[in-house]
Amino acid sequence: MTILLHVCCAPDATTAVERLRQENYEPVLFFYNPNIQPQEEYLRRLEATKKLAELWKLRLIVDGSGEDLWREEIKGLEELKEGSIRCQKCIEFRLRRTAEYARANGFEIFSNTLTTSPKKNSQLILEIGTKAAHEFQIQYLHRDFKKKNGFLRSVQLSKELQLYRQNYCGCIYSLKTPKREKGISDENICSDE
Ligand code: SF4
Repeated sequence: MTILLHVCCAPDATTAVERLRQENYEPVLFFYNPNIQPQEEYLRRLEATKKLAELWKLRLIVDGSGEDLWREEIKGLEELKEGSIRCQKCIEFRLRRTAEYARANGFEIFSNTLTTSPKKNSQLILEIGTKAAHEFQIQYLHRDFKKKNGFLRSVQLSKELQLYRQNYCGCIYSLKTPKREKGISDENICSDE
């Protein structure tokens, strides 16, 4: 069955795609990340996703819209810490658009790659995905891809495939936060986390 898979970045997508294919889903990648700043970084992550799509013969849809709307969505929350309500709104914004696109383009079900990251709250993503699915009347498939060493598997696959792996979540505010303040090391830095 075809599934629309929101991709936050190529490394996180590796585990998600591998596992979904094991369940007989055929993911169509949906790259919608107006949160990624600066532009060079956005393009770097997009290129890595294109590379993965080519290597693994995946269909990739790129939606480059929404930057102004995203800024509006997080307005006033810029200085909050990573993992705060700003991130909740950011994730809601992207998954809601994914559900909307899925509904408008004949997909029956959607999912996302965010849960590959050890820093993403799976329960929160479940709630956000379920809400978006309800709003657009399609199904949401929730999987916590970090389980069963899913994150380590993504690190391994990204190395094998030589995919670019970033060292901050995405927005300029996460870029400004020094790693030591986030309490993370180089080894467990996540992709879109
Ligand atoms: S830290 Fe990540 S999830 Fe949070 S607002 Fe920035 S890009 Fe979005």
